[in-house]
Amino acid sequence: MKWTVEAEEELKKVPAFVLRMARRAVEEQVRKSGRDEVTVEDVRAGRERHLSFIEKQKPPGERPTRIAVVRCDIVAEVCPGVACFRAFHERHCHFSTYGNNTEIIGFFTCGGCPGRRVSRLVEKLVDHDLDVVHLSSCMMLEGDYPKCPHRTQIKSSIEAKGIRVVEGTHH
Ligand code: SF4
Repeated sequence: MKWTVEAEEELKKVPAFVLRMARRAVEEQVRKSGRDEVTVEDVRAGRERHLSFIEKQKPPGERPTRIAVVRCDIVAEVCPGVACFRAFHERHCHFSTYGNNTEIIGFFTCGGCPGRRVSRLVEKLVDHDLDVVHLSSCMMLEGDYPKCPHRTQIKSSIEAKGIRVVEGTHH
């Protein structure tokens, strides 16, 4: 198995006592994907997998709850998301049930009708131990903008990945 110079450099960041194990694990993944050269991205992906594994070993109380917010691509043209973040930081409205050990790990727009990239991005976040997705209030409320006509399908596509969905953020 060949290693690029950058990959070797990246591997040096791994603590010495797990170096051999890390090298073997990365090479195994690269082999499985049908390649014969380890790149810096492979080493980083290996580190992510390892951190995720460590995280999963923690007892439920110690592990943070990880949430993401999906919002309307159209509304995002005029809204930087301040109210969603304020509601999260102050734990009000749809964030009121979360304790201190809660993190926002994703905040993204749907990608345009009919929620083009939601499924793909949620899948990425599942690898980072996502627990809950909030559909932003701009998708749910009739007001300056119409309710999202695709919200039911978007919700189902997220739930199909085993992720809980909360309808709303700051309203
Ligand atoms: S799918 Fe819904 S949330 Fe996404 S842009 Fe269209 S209306 Fe907005």
